[in-house]
Amino acid sequence: MAHLGDTPPSSGSALGASTLPLRDPRTGALVGEMAATPEGDVAGLVARARAAGATWAATPLEERKGAIRRLASVFLARGSEIVDTLVAEIGKPPGEAWTSEVVTAQELFATWLEMIDDELADIPVPLNPINYPGKDVVLRLEPIGVVGLIMPWNYPIHLPLRTIVPAVLAGNAVVWKPSEYASRCGALLDSIFKAAFPADLVITIQGGPTQGAALIDGGVDRVVFTGSVAGGRAVAQRAAARLLPTSLELGSKDPAIVLHDADLERTVNGLVWGAFHNAGQDCASVERVYVDARIHDAFVEKVVAATRSLRVGSTSGTPDVGPLINAAALEKVHGHVTAAVAAGAVVRAGGEPTGEGYHYPPTVLTGVTDDMAVMREESFGPLFPIASFATEDEAVARANASPYGLTASVWSRDLRRAEALAARITTGVSFVNNCCFTGPMGAAAWGGRKESGYGVTGSRFGLEALVQPRTVCVDRSRGKKEMWWYPYGDNLVNMARGLVELTRPGGARLSGARMAVGGLLNRWK
Ligand code: NAD
Repeated sequence: MAHLGDTPPSSGSALGASTLPLRDPRTGALVGEMAATPEGDVAGLVARARAAGATWAATPLEERKGAIRRLASVFLARGSEIVDTLVAEIGKPPGEAWTSEVVTAQELFATWLEMIDDELADIPVPLNPINYPGKDVVLRLEPIGVVGLIMPWNYPIHLPLRTIVPAVLAGNAVVWKPSEYASRCGALLDSIFKAAFPADLVITIQGGPTQGAALIDGGVDRVVFTGSVAGGRAVAQRAAARLLPTSLELGSKDPAIVLHDADLERTVNGLVWGAFHNAGQDCASVERVYVDARIHDAFVEKVVAATRSLRVGSTSGTPDVGPLINAAALEKVHGHVTAAVAAGAVVRAGGEPTGEGYHYPPTVLTGVTDDMAVMREESFGPLFPIASFATEDEAVARANASPYGLTASVWSRDLRRAEALAARITTGVSFVNNCCFTGPMGAAAWGGRKESGYGVTGSRFGLEALVQPRTVCVDRSRGKKEMWWYPYGDNLVNMARGLVELTRPGGARLSGARMAVGGLLNRWK
């Protein structure tokens, strides 16, 4: 296989400045370079973000919402430019770039603007008025400070936004690092942030793992990481040394289970998209398919036909499937295919690099076994390995026999049965008769189990990672003492016993009331 060879970032000045090579994955050609942020500058940039964040935290929520409306307006006005950059840098088919990065962002802005007042409202703490007269206690959600965000390249526009939008609304500053393979998208987003936000509120640093490490060490208050399991493990270990909380959205090997009563046409259309969109480079891509043995052959025939109809590569008009991101990805994906074939699998479509840039054709494999790398490791490429099962219990057990747990899908006309089956698979997201698509939703929680990570993005549970609850107690009572203040003595004991008798099931209510009231009157004299 032709190996086009990526150039790693080259070292520059003593401060650690370097440049990132820019490639067009559609051709593999080197098309330029991007200056990386000197790692020695990162802590200073975090300090600048902290200063901007202090003012921002005190800004009324209405003004913060105004900034997100500005962001939405600038972002959407530049939609075509965003799509062109995604096509040039990641090789996404334009239609996919629009739907998965621009339309989803439009929904994200609207959803958070709609939800944020309720989500950030003070949460009253219910108090027993006898024990705690005249007190108001609320939980107030404050910003945590500076969020350090480390991003992958596969959705280089939407993924940063899904954290930055709620983080900024909640009153935080953000310092974020795009992937070294998506620095042009990062620079474009940076220019949009500069147009929408106060200076230094959201700062972009460019570079690879070195700059990512400098960000963790640079004084941020939380690290939000999306990327590979290996990257997440290294980030979590580094953050742990500083006792920094982290959220990790990592890789997966998502299974699909096709039951015998599935609507084959919808299932095939859905799974072919689920396996091949973004050239299979989606954390929730369908990466292994278990189909009921009774419909295996009919299913395979339809999958192969649908796969062969897809247009691949930049020379075929509007492509359905773009290239992989780099030479290493191409090598890994083809390695999974050749190893599977060597162990007895059969290629039913695709199976050889097209020779154009980093393209790999959508590939269907049958005769795969669960011990093959293509069924165990994240391929992150356009592969569709199909295995058959005899019983549903067997299918669930095989789906669960994985270190990952991001999403799973079950396909059947019996919706309740399918939902119950999906619930038995250890994942953060489950689908019936669909797959993958809820990741960008502001109101839905997205997160994995097992080695697919911890913490979520989206929904109030994602917001929780971006706020710190402060318990605020304001006492309006005029009493001179609380019942639990000094002096202690029989009076306090009687009153406490009385209060318990008054409320416990089967308690002596009358004497309890007498003891409690007597005690309280004495205490508050
Ligand atoms: P990656 O782990 O190689 O890199 C991700 C980011 O982390 C990059 O910005 C990189 O520079 C940085 N980084 C890597 N090692 C680091 C270290 N030791 N210290 C600090 N920073 C470091 O991942 P990738 O190839 O960019 O992305 C693909 C992976 O991301 C796949 O495994 C995919 O499944 C996963 N992903 C997960 C989700 C999700 O929501 N669960 C979403 C998208 C992608």
